[in-house]
Amino acid sequence: MEAFGCRAGWPRQKHGEEEGSALPEQNRLLHFNSAQGASRKPGVSVCVKLEPSGRIHVVFIVGEPEAEEHSSEGEPRKAVGVDLGIGRLATLSDGRILENPRPLERSLERVRVLQRNLSWKKLLSDNWLKAKRKLAKRHEHVKDFRRDLFFKLGALFAGEYDIFVLEDLNVGGLIQEGETRKRRLRLDDSSFSELKRILEWAFEMGGKLVLPVPSSNTSHECFHRGGINQSLTLEDRVFHCPHCGFTLDRDLNASLVLLKRSGWVPPFWCACL
Ligand SMILES: [Zn+2]
Repeated sequence: MEAFGCRAGWPRQKHGEEEGSALPEQNRLLHFNSAQGASRKPGVSVCVKLEPSGRIHVVFIVGEPEAEEHSSEGEPRKAVGVDLGIGRLATLSDGRILENPRPLERSLERVRVLQRNLSWKKLLSDNWLKAKRKLAKRHEHVKDFRRDLFFKLGALFAGEYDIFVLEDLNVGGLIQEGETRKRRLRLDDSSFSELKRILEWAFEMGGKLVLPVPSSNTSHECFHRGGINQSLTLEDRVFHCPHCGFTLDRDLNASLVLLKRSGWVPPFWCACL
């Protein structure tokens, strides 16, 4: 069994890995012994992770008997299209919207102060190590906030939908091609790759599916008749089709286009026309 981002099995100290010196010896032993005890039980394994700030994560992975599969034949499957973005984190084709909390952008000022403090310290001195640990903690805080949010979203969506249709984005390419530094930061802050990995994991665990579909022209295509609005810019928040006059929120139109590309058409779509 493999849990998300954590391979089941015995924790091992890798060569060159930082020692957990931030914790007293007793605490380290306590954690390790707990892990040993747990891993002897069938279906239980432990993953230990040491963060740069000295914090240690101990993850207990407990295998549960597989739920009895019930036949879904004949049952309608609930599909949703999702447009991911840096303004709004996600817009769903059923009209739900999730704002982007941008944890890195909100922490940026604090990170800059900590980086400046670190640059003033003598390399490898006690104060330098202290400042470095503080900076690592701040980065971990941002990472934790993001992962916590993504796992909650994964659980929420996997509980409500059977098929989650996403744009098959080249996120790395988007970050390099971002026109401005702020846009690059926001793309990085949104961590689409991590979000997609967590969603895929959450859906797979529930026997459901994340379905990537081609991303070309998603924002420019008219959901209603398929015409293309080439003049749409990043600043335009409303999509207007020059061919048929269809007008809708830009992100909602994109999420509906994605859903349509997967072969599903929302039963309510005519209501918004
Ligand atoms: Zn149109």
